[in-house]
Amino acid sequence: MKQERKTIQSALKVNKGIAAPQSVNPYLKKGSVAPARDTSAASYCEAIKKGDISMLSRAITRTESRLEKDRKLAAEILEGCLPASGNSIRIGITGTPGVGKSTFIEALGLALVERKHKVAVLAIDPSSRISGGSILGDKTRMEKLAGHPQVFIRPSASSGVLGGVARRTKESILLCEAAGFDVIIVETVGVGQSEVEVKNLVDFFLLLLLPGAGDELQGIKRGIMEVADMIVINKADGENSDKANLAKSQIQQALRLFPPKENRWEVPVLLTSALYHQGVEAVWNKIEDYEQRMKKNGYFLRHRQGQERHAFYETIHQRIWSYFLDDEDVKKEIARLEESIGKGEISAFAAAGKLMEEVIIPRVKQGKI
Ligand code: GDP
Repeated sequence: MKQERKTIQSALKVNKGIAAPQSVNPYLKKGSVAPARDTSAASYCEAIKKGDISMLSRAITRTESRLEKDRKLAAEILEGCLPASGNSIRIGITGTPGVGKSTFIEALGLALVERKHKVAVLAIDPSSRISGGSILGDKTRMEKLAGHPQVFIRPSASSGVLGGVARRTKESILLCEAAGFDVIIVETVGVGQSEVEVKNLVDFFLLLLLPGAGDELQGIKRGIMEVADMIVINKADGENSDKANLAKSQIQQALRLFPPKENRWEVPVLLTSALYHQGVEAVWNKIEDYEQRMKKNGYFLRHRQGQERHAFYETIHQRIWSYFLDDEDVKKEIARLEESIGKGEISAFAAAGKLMEEVIIPRVKQGKI
């Protein structure tokens, strides 16, 4: 009894309900910086708007988090930063691995910082979802650019739900803009779905190709060619020069077969040698030309508004879908119908109809969902 009272009254004892203090500063242990600052959404926004890169980086990490509390904070940060965003040119760059994307972005980025631009590079790596490995992460990329004070580079794995890449990248774009970056480059590997999603996030879409158009063209999906605002044939140097010129005229011919663009922009085909920094300035001049013309004729703003609407509908679809998927009966029925579709017992359309009419709608009406 005496012993018990002694324990309870001891100042060294931490009573139930009171968290034990850390004996060692956990941040010191990890070698990172402790978040000594107040990390409310408002203080994030304030720091980001002042160009604080570490807070920008941490805010982006929050947008990528799967934790509900992080997502909530991220949403508040975004709302707060929104009025300061939008003031940039957003450029998407795609091309197969090895075409020279990182070399090209580095050369372009270095030219842009010379012109006093602030450049953010957001790199999307679709391979991380499929293989667990990474196309972008396995080599040191853009070393010279990465160390520059006017530059922010952020690789981003695309693992997660469908549409996740687009949402997170869009959020990162807005946060970078609020931090004062006026050229945002979104890099994606041209091997799948992601570049179509990226097209919906950017003002200008650039496709990098290799010399040797005949073979190369066969490997490129027509869809990507059609949505590109500029085609750049990279590695147009040394022995490749003749091949690059030939490729240029073949691609120009192929482009003539596409219907004219709504904005009347004629897709230029340029040659570069990113390695030797040749032709990169000409690419930028064309992008500036595009920006000026499209701002003048109103397309620039219209295009962004269209993208906002697209994001709005996409988000509604995703949220409704995940809301229904939370329901166990709906999940079970989907699994069952999927099996039936696989066996050829029912068509996809009939199955979707059945799911809606026999499961989802009745459950909504009964107030079960
Ligand atoms: P990515 O996978 O598309 O990012 O391609 P990288 O930028 O990593 O480039 C792949 C390889 O091509 C590297 O060895 C580069 O040095 C080389 N490379 C990139 N651009 C050029 C260029 O303009 N000319 C030549 N000759 N090689 C280049």
